[in-house]
Amino acid sequence: MTTRVRFAPSPTGPLHIGGLRTALFNYLHARKNNGVFILRVEDTDQNRYVEGSEDYIQHALEWCGMVPDEGPKNGGAFGPYRQSERSSIYKEHVNLLLEKGAAYYAFDSSEELNAAREQAEKNKETFRYGSQNRLQFKNSLTLSKEEIQTYLRGDYVVRLKVEPGKTVTVFDEVRGNVQVSSDLIDDKILIKADGLPTYHFANVVDDKLMKITTVIRGEEWLPSLPLHQLIYDAFGWDSPQFMHLPLILKPSGKGKLSKRDGDKEGFPVFPLQWKQDTPGFREMGFLPEGMVNYLALLGWNDGSDNEFFSLKNLEAKFDVEGVQKGGARFDYEKARWINHHYVIEQPTEELIQNPYVLEILKEFPKEKYSSIVALVKERLYTLKDLEQETAFLKTPYDYDEKGVAKVRDKNPVKVLEQICILLERAGVGGELKEQLFHWAKEEGVPLGVVMQSFRLSLVGALSGPDLFEVCALLGKDVSLKRVQNFINYLT
Ligand code: GLU
Repeated sequence: MTTRVRFAPSPTGPLHIGGLRTALFNYLHARKNNGVFILRVEDTDQNRYVEGSEDYIQHALEWCGMVPDEGPKNGGAFGPYRQSERSSIYKEHVNLLLEKGAAYYAFDSSEELNAAREQAEKNKETFRYGSQNRLQFKNSLTLSKEEIQTYLRGDYVVRLKVEPGKTVTVFDEVRGNVQVSSDLIDDKILIKADGLPTYHFANVVDDKLMKITTVIRGEEWLPSLPLHQLIYDAFGWDSPQFMHLPLILKPSGKGKLSKRDGDKEGFPVFPLQWKQDTPGFREMGFLPEGMVNYLALLGWNDGSDNEFFSLKNLEAKFDVEGVQKGGARFDYEKARWINHHYVIEQPTEELIQNPYVLEILKEFPKEKYSSIVALVKERLYTLKDLEQETAFLKTPYDYDEKGVAKVRDKNPVKVLEQICILLERAGVGGELKEQLFHWAKEEGVPLGVVMQSFRLSLVGALSGPDLFEVCALLGKDVSLKRVQNFINYLT
């Protein structure tokens, strides 16, 4: 049997990092098993629909390299892949349940339901519409044929008729057996008053019709699983395999990660920019390789200490056994560290084609792009760090006070004057270093003082990339000017 999995987001806004991780694990499970990865858009809740989210989701998947095999964009044999285009399918299927007596029409108005709810509250009970009280309501189990026909001309919903006293057992690949008494499950609505299906109903019908073999989704859906099982049972269908992924937790480890955490602590929670004001990982300087690798670590490992996995690697390695039960703590520093690995790995010539890199480089001469990036690449955790790491290329700058204090009483001016002489004589090539070190040895000036003074004059601070390479990049005239500026500053 071909493995078929689906990523089934609701287009209610941008994709959260948790959603993207669900997509990734689906994609990997498909690739690992030579299966099919499907994108299904669950857009039956018109109130929550947000314009632009479907495109966003498609782009985010493509950016990560997880192009769906079937979906609204590229079609497939099991479409349509937008639930809003499948209404007739749900109608047809709910009719099957109605005919079997596994579902029924309900005509209660919201006022009537609210009154019942209030009464339950007064009695300190949780309100439920189910086997214990369904016969007290206005529905096709309690009304005459004529009354039903009349009511069917107005608003109505269709509810699942849950049999009482049964133990519903479902198996989750990550968590094992989950058991619930059917007495605790409501007669859930399958078709709403607007004629559209609820999430639960459409989800089960589509998973069946699209021949999904494994449902992989977030843990927040685990409580719905017994209900889904009852819907499969009502149809007499076999259910697929289920795999519920652990929550992604706040950096503190307490509670579910939310957009607000990102806003507060300055990290993205979306893969791509959403609207004008919310940058995504891409805009914050992540490479898709870094993004994918970090996502994979949120709740999965291969049993070793290895933390670097390319998408190709993951496609071969991913397995259910590696999925953890407990929540996965989000750690932005770790995400940056993983991304760093891919920035270093990417050839400079490729990096300087990246639009985010070009945006930062555009104020420098084109012929220097390559040497600038090569010089600072090792220091980049995100592409955005390039801004800060190339700051030294621009004048004017301030001198780091603490750095200056380290050399001030060690006669830095003598060193700097000698550097000027050597710059004039030897230029910025390899000889500069040789001659400067030779001079320092002869004069008994510690190399530390030489390098610190020179570095402060060129970049204003004591840290930065290789000094002689910086000097070569700046060129003789700019370097000389900077050394002279620093002499002026010191005297
Ligand atoms: N539409 C649901 C969501 O947005 C899908 C849940 C599922 O995969 O069953 O999360």
